[in-house]
Amino acid sequence: METFEKLAEMGHERVLLCSNREVGLQAIIAVHSTVLGPGLGGVRMWPYKNSEEAIKDALRLSRGMTYKAAAAGLNLGGGKAVIIGDPKKDKSEALFRSFGRYVESLGGLYITAEDVGTDMEDMELILTETRWVTGVSPAHGGSGDPSPVTAYGTLQGIKAAAKWKYGDPSLDGRSVAIQGLGSVGYYLAKYLKEEGVKLIGADIDSEAVDRASSELGVEIVSTDEIVEVDCDVLAPCALGAVLNKESIPNLRCSIVAGAANNQLDKAKRDGLALHERDILYAPDFVINAGGLINVYNELAGAYNQERALRMTRGIYLNLMRVFEISKTEGIPTYVAADQMAEERVGKIKQLGARHWGRFISNHHPEV
Ligand code: NAD
Repeated sequence: METFEKLAEMGHERVLLCSNREVGLQAIIAVHSTVLGPGLGGVRMWPYKNSEEAIKDALRLSRGMTYKAAAAGLNLGGGKAVIIGDPKKDKSEALFRSFGRYVESLGGLYITAEDVGTDMEDMELILTETRWVTGVSPAHGGSGDPSPVTAYGTLQGIKAAAKWKYGDPSLDGRSVAIQGLGSVGYYLAKYLKEEGVKLIGADIDSEAVDRASSELGVEIVSTDEIVEVDCDVLAPCALGAVLNKESIPNLRCSIVAGAANNQLDKAKRDGLALHERDILYAPDFVINAGGLINVYNELAGAYNQERALRMTRGIYLNLMRVFEISKTEGIPTYVAADQMAEERVGKIKQLGARHWGRFISNHHPEV
């Protein structure tokens, strides 16, 4: 009963429990909304303790995708899947093909992609059973690694935040502290270097640190120091919950704009704390939508990175709109971002019938 109450409260359209004992598949596909288009979101493979925990995660993550796609102006709804299992031990061809058949059974209501614990090879197996899969290899017309496009979108977001805060989007001479120099962090550092930015960075991985300092001249500080370093922009590109009640009082930046997911530990408390400190926060799901925009481009026919990058430049306008709503209504930016997404879904919902149109265009707010 609790699950049904949760479904009603969160507004999910469909949840599919997938079980195939022969191949060891236990999965949940959650479609939160198809108002704007099919629900697209990755499939996560994780050793959840029990099915309740897995369902909860699928519901939470799929709802998040509705907001992300809506704010990015994409013709996509929100969906997400989770497979219960250890990605190091439990993967097999049969398991992913079985999962692919469940995806196929939804007839395009849900489109899958990579996520934590799954990779391009898994997507190729799913592709043998359904065309409703993205993130496949360029050899199959796919878009490959999304990180460069995510980093490019993050750069647009940092420029928008600079324009809003300082009246000028130019980053020349500004300082940016990047927490996490992995896939996205590294490409972001590369883009920022071209803009004349003074780069500071940290990572727990010594190889990532060496690469960033030797190739890009990033000044390295310890992982404890990075969040509190004196800089214009803090760009979290590692883990979630980095903005919390311990870190926020010690921040010495005027902007937080990075690619990591779920940066606010407690959205209400920490989003408000940033607002009260007058630190401009670029909501994570708006600034890091480049990866989603990238896979979206696979649906529009032959993947073309130029087109994906062009669409990703829209993140600048999307964030300017968020900042504007935040200012006009006197609300924290994370609330403004939710509001912007909800408004778009609400308006399109009035059309009635489900979207089965083309994927290629995307909508940007007027600023
Ligand atoms: P990644 O694993 O390649 O890089 C993350 C890096 O953070 C690693 O190098 C890791 O060593 C480092 N790290 C971990 N803990 C740290 C700590 N305490 N301090 C400093 N560094 C630490 O992952 P990624 O693909 O670059 O993604 C980074 C973030 O962006 C994640 O939160 C991810 O969910 C989010 N994101 C990524 C994409 C994408 O296209 N890859 C898209 C949207 C959002």
